[in-house]
Amino acid sequence: MTEYQGRHFLQIPGPSPVPDRVLRAMDMPVMDHRSQEFAELGRAVLGGCQEIFKTTGPVIIFPSSGTGAWEAAIVNTLSPGDRVLMVETGHFATLWRQMAARWGIDVDFLPGDWRRGADPSAIEDRLARDSSHSIKAVMVVHNETSTGVTSRIGDIRKAMDRAGHPALLLVDTISSLGSVDYRHDEWRVDVTVSCSQKGFMLPPGLGFNAISDKARAAAKSNKMPRSYWDWEEMLKPNASGFFPYTPATNLLYGLREAIAMLLEEGLDAVFARHERLAAATRAAVTHWGLEVLCVEPAEYSPVLTAVLMPPGHDADKFRKIVLENYNMSLGSGLTKLAGKVFRIGHLGECNELTLLGALTGVEMGLSIAGVPYRAGGVAVAMTYLEGRTKANHPSHLKIIGA
Ligand SMILES: *Cc1c(COP(=O)(O)O)cnc(C)c1O
Repeated sequence: MTEYQGRHFLQIPGPSPVPDRVLRAMDMPVMDHRSQEFAELGRAVLGGCQEIFKTTGPVIIFPSSGTGAWEAAIVNTLSPGDRVLMVETGHFATLWRQMAARWGIDVDFLPGDWRRGADPSAIEDRLARDSSHSIKAVMVVHNETSTGVTSRIGDIRKAMDRAGHPALLLVDTISSLGSVDYRHDEWRVDVTVSCSQKGFMLPPGLGFNAISDKARAAAKSNKMPRSYWDWEEMLKPNASGFFPYTPATNLLYGLREAIAMLLEEGLDAVFARHERLAAATRAAVTHWGLEVLCVEPAEYSPVLTAVLMPPGHDADKFRKIVLENYNMSLGSGLTKLAGKVFRIGHLGECNELTLLGALTGVEMGLSIAGVPYRAGGVAVAMTYLEGRTKANHPSHLKIIGA
């Protein structure tokens, strides 16, 4: 066993590091989930989630991983034999497709090369040709965590409107919510799927569905069997702050704190911070002479950067060297990309110096691993961040001035 000193650098794109403030908030005795004290917590987190999802409709909180929340979205809105349109943005879109197929859904899968997001015009074209409206839902992953590509959900909504198609819009925001601009109501998304361990900065264990009136209406007449995941079972007790079964009480304490942190910083400032850290990362990667996997600048992920290894160099061997030497975990390449890319997470509890530490570990790792690169990427990232930090940090200035 390797002995490590200092804090582990968890630079994978989820689970992301949990802030001390959230850890402390969860360090509480378990309470009676039928008590009035619990109802206050329940109401606080259910209301707080609406602000993060930007919706006035209900947000459902399941004790589950993100995969469970995927399943809830499917079983509450669709029926066996229904047709849906999905887009192959990467590993997670492929897994969601497999799940839909297991539920007897007929999936139209628009092929992709795992280097760009869902193309709004391809979706528009496909929907426009479906004059009988046999497609019941469009299902898209907002931030494809396997590739570091963020699809443009607002543009996809517009494309669906132009096609005049009534399909539901189901969006996986598992790795984007709380890190990337997202608007459930404004974009008229019908089900937004998310979970706790990425932008929410919580441990794994909570899954979310934000649902529109249209989705709720679909749930009244669809034919998929369900019990644990049934929205209506959840919504009845939620109205007074309660849950139909034992909720993940201590994670909800953490959720209340995480929502407070996001709103104190301000969602726009949170999004700007993620974009700034992502831009600094790309500046370093480009300087090293390595290639960012995402090829569409309008779709660069603010959450993570996937980096292609030069041919002949194994990304997993490189990640092992970084872990053993610098106590830092980087994300691996998934399925098609195994060994070919490594992923640098820069989401959630991450600031300029955290990022520079992570980039320093990558640069030293490249040197030790014998990967050809141009030294000085970290210095380029520093220069980028120096230029941006002050102007974009009103929250820090406020603290200094107080
Ligand atoms: C992490 C992730 C998932 C899977 O979430 P789990 O909590 O592991 O079930 C699904 N989709 C995306 C985009 C993800 O990043």
